[in-house]
Amino acid sequence: MNLKTFKVLLRFVPFPLVAVLAGVLIAGPAEDSPEPAKAVAESPEAHAELRKIRDGISRLLDENTRLKDENAQLRKENQQLRRLLAERAGAGKTVGPANSPTDASNAAVPGGESTLTYWISTSNGQRHNSRCRYFKTTEGRLGAPDEGKACKLCGG
Ligand SMILES: [Zn+2]
Repeated sequence: MNLKTFKVLLRFVPFPLVAVLAGVLIAGPAEDSPEPAKAVAESPEAHAELRKIRDGISRLLDENTRLKDENAQLRKENQQLRRLLAERAGAGKTVGPANSPTDASNAAVPGGESTLTYWISTSNGQRHNSRCRYFKTTEGRLGAPDEGKACKLCGG
């Protein structure tokens, strides 16, 4: 297409369309120039910064929730352990002669460990059976049924 036909064409093509075409021709290459790209890049940077802060906050909230859950879990476990301990101390079912180093050393005493099912308090020499509240809760050692004097509370 030569210049003359272009001019003729222009005469028939409505001006707004030419303006739009011209705009596209000018704006087209401009899109590849770094100028608008930089202007656009500044906004995402700020946006990213904001998002980083938001992420940080939500992470902290998550962490907080997690810690709360963990705390609740630990509290529950603690309660269970206390209950277990209370059951153990109360029933004395699982309390055997070989449960602690003290027991182990006493188990070596002549007479056999099976007879050492009583608790002899060191302070007053009283003998307690396994159901007594003083059983293994006071200073003392395991002993035989004929050792010490019987506790008034449990009958030895
Ligand atoms: Zn007793």
